[in-house]
Amino acid sequence: MKIETKCLHEGYTPKNGEPRVLPIVQSTTYCFDSTEHIAQLFDMPTEFMYSRFANPTVDAVEKKIASLEGGVGAMCTTSGQAASLFSILNLCKAGDSFIAAATIYGGSINLFAVTLKKLGIECIFVDADAPEAELDAAFRPNTKAVFGETLANPALTVLDIEKFASLAHRHGVPLIIDNTFATPILCRPIEFGADIIVHSTTKYMDGHAVQGGGVIVDAGHFDWTNENFPDFVEPDESYHGVSYVKSFGPMAYIIKARMQLMRDFGCYPAANSAFLLNLGLETLPVRMRQYCSNAMAAAEFLEKHPKVTSVNYPGLASNKYHARAKKYLPEGCSGVISFTVAGGRGDAVKFMDHLELASNVVHVADIRTCVLHPASATHRQLTDEQLLAAGIDGSMIRLSVGLENIEDILADLEKGFAAI
Ligand SMILES: *Cc1c(COP(=O)(O)O)cnc(C)c1O
Repeated sequence: MKIETKCLHEGYTPKNGEPRVLPIVQSTTYCFDSTEHIAQLFDMPTEFMYSRFANPTVDAVEKKIASLEGGVGAMCTTSGQAASLFSILNLCKAGDSFIAAATIYGGSINLFAVTLKKLGIECIFVDADAPEAELDAAFRPNTKAVFGETLANPALTVLDIEKFASLAHRHGVPLIIDNTFATPILCRPIEFGADIIVHSTTKYMDGHAVQGGGVIVDAGHFDWTNENFPDFVEPDESYHGVSYVKSFGPMAYIIKARMQLMRDFGCYPAANSAFLLNLGLETLPVRMRQYCSNAMAAAEFLEKHPKVTSVNYPGLASNKYHARAKKYLPEGCSGVISFTVAGGRGDAVKFMDHLELASNVVHVADIRTCVLHPASATHRQLTDEQLLAAGIDGSMIRLSVGLENIEDILADLEKGFAAI
């Protein structure tokens, strides 16, 4: 199946007489005929047992997203943050480190630099465009993963995924890619060597701003027996001595994440949330194409505007990442643009406060056009140094172009400019 068809048909196929639409299984628990049957499930959870870590509605959506990304399995979480957290905790414990590109989502920077540090896991931030020798030098004997974003929020840098995959693999560790902004419609990082994919499904996948969520996808091709990951090979005493690699082969990572992390921490989405996410996924290809074309038109408009000092959108020929975007995002660069206005922070805020159609919200990748001032909102907790490294300055506005008619979007932007 092509990706548009997968968005509609993967994950759930009704049998004779069953509902056409994915049913919401609103039950925390499942019935079995015997105690022995339940005992067997505790050894090998092959059926639904308890909705803290698996549910049939969520399962269907997990299968769909795994297929869209080209992975062997997926696990949904209650937020993108939980997906990023679990993607690392499944590989690192206290005393370990991992490497992350400096231009990633502000929430991930805080999670990695502050909260994981408290748990004894160190994140080493690197300039993703640094020469390979410099990136190689960032690795330590305890480094267990490399993390980056396809299209970074909000810096909009495009990651050289192939370079990062070979870097990670040279050091015997997997590459984790946050593919939230690109979605599998515009880029499938597994095709370029990535091992694990995470998403905030709160963004384009849901698209309608109705529920938060996240997902982790396992490509199924990383060799966990290379001695860096004994927890994947040696018996898990908390799970009846199971060896994830021996029992689950290519699904080792995603099953370990479910059996250890989801079992112990929860963070599993409700069936109703998965139902809504599925509705978003059904129209994702149509929406992504329209986001790309509206954003391209808006970026061209902004680039010509006298009150704009810079526009950052990799779809523009003038952009530093344009050539790389053509390779990794050949169908378009998604719907988010950042730009700076003449007059600094004060004028950026004034511009935003005079928009009428675009809403000023703490959100991005919505069906409706929205704006955000990263320096006062999502990235408020970062130091000036971290802000600079994340590619953000005070006069920068993040514009998330929606699916309204482009003429209405541009007319609204003109109202903001008239105020400054
Ligand atoms: C929003 C976002 C997250 C966090 O997702 P939540 O669903 O808000 O927890 C992670 N990565 C990226 C790129 C994001 O845009």
